Amino acid sequence: MSYQRPKGTNDILPGEVEKWQFVEETARLLFKDYQYNEIRTPMFEHYEVIARSVGDTTDIVSKEMYDFYDKGERHVTLRPEGTAPIARSYIENKLFGPEYSKPYKVYYVGPMFRYERPQKGRMRQFHQIGVEAFGSNNPATDVETMVMALEFFKQLGIDQIRLVINSLGDKATRAAYRQALIDYLEPHQAELSEDSQRRLHENPLRVLDSKDKRDKKFVADAPSILDYLSETSKSHFEEVTNMLDALEIPYEIDSNMVRGLDYYTDTIFEIMSDAKGMGAQATICAGGRYDHLVEELEGPATPSFGFAMGIERILLVLEAEEVVLPTLNQVDAYIVNLGATTNIEALKVVQAIRNAGFSADRDVMDRKAKAQFKSADKAGATLVLTLGEDELAEGMINVKAMETREEKRVPLTDIYQSFETIYDEMTKGE
Ligand code: ATP
Ligand code: MG
Repeated sequence: MSYQRPKGTNDILPGEVEKWQFVEETARLLFKDYQYNEIRTPMFEHYEVIARSVGDTTDIVSKEMYDFYDKGERHVTLRPEGTAPIARSYIENKLFGPEYSKPYKVYYVGPMFRYERPQKGRMRQFHQIGVEAFGSNNPATDVETMVMALEFFKQLGIDQIRLVINSLGDKATRAAYRQALIDYLEPHQAELSEDSQRRLHENPLRVLDSKDKRDKKFVADAPSILDYLSETSKSHFEEVTNMLDALEIPYEIDSNMVRGLDYYTDTIFEIMSDAKGMGAQATICAGGRYDHLVEELEGPATPSFGFAMGIERILLVLEAEEVVLPTLNQVDAYIVNLGATTNIEALKVVQAIRNAGFSADRDVMDRKAKAQFKSADKAGATLVLTLGEDELAEGMINVKAMETREEKRVPLTDIYQSFETIYDEMTKGE
């Protein structure tokens, strides 16, 4: 019997995990500059929180939920996305209170779960980095948040990207557009996919998001929501585009773009990668405004804006664009120890070096000299310290700087008392 990880999941092994750390660290530093703080919510939520926020007719809720009844008969689900749980937390913890900053800005990093057909860049457990800004309806919030996402990709070294925006309008817009869309689609009803036939009257906007070929044909010529924007939504969208222009940020408008979640209103956006081979998984960041979600979950009226980015897809883009990431794999000192009697002294030496504030490792496998030097090399050791039985008898240790190949025999007492001095001496001029 050999066990395998569940379909659509991944083990992120050392060697690969450093890339994840780099991506996450870049996000944390940038988001801090924009005054976002981290929030961590549970991996699972009451089913109702997600269903009400994301929408019953969406693919996420109707097909992709990892939901179950727990031993107490509670209907819960692994979280498929980050915004609904955070909105729930915002309300539950009364983060709209006067003692909190406005807008209330948070970011998150973590796994999300959707029962999808796994493909490259489409997993069942995938990971998102996302942000939410609660409480501002200023179009400047839309713009600075989109710009922050663009800046994030720039800092990672990703160049081949496009910002695509659209507006889904407010409630008045949606009501007017809904009817126009139904009028347009109804004559073709029989030719649409089964899902879209069902959704045509329930939630016609979902038809625009369909990936089915039978639907796409009609979507291309569908009426544009931008022609149905209410006065308020129109002026919000105009301000957004004016502000993007003011910052000289290039963007495209795609009036057929909708999102796979029902809570969005007014501005929505995607950042698409043009790197080779991304195919249908080219969207690396998506988000927008959700002015009624907090109310929908029984909180106070709170206009909000956020986005989420898929880490797996970002890593695919980094690979496709051949971005060279900084190597983090290095150790200050590696202790090669030879012979049966050096085990305790090697332990003392490696601990002394660690206590002096350096990174260090040693051989514990009692291997031959050659294998130990190879390990030191692989670890990217700056100094290699060799302790044989002869050295030990004399109270000495051999220290070699790998860069300069300079070697020196030093008393073990020096290692214990002043490793930093030895390290500085042997690495100066590097
Ligand atoms: P798609 O249209 O590609 O299915 P979506 O509209 O479902 O994406 P969102 O829910 O807006 O995506 O999630 C934001 C981002 O999270 C996506 O742009 C993508 O980068 C990433 N993402 C979403 N679903 C997955 C998945 N199953 N596997 C990997 N990444 C994902
Ligand atoms: Mg999806």
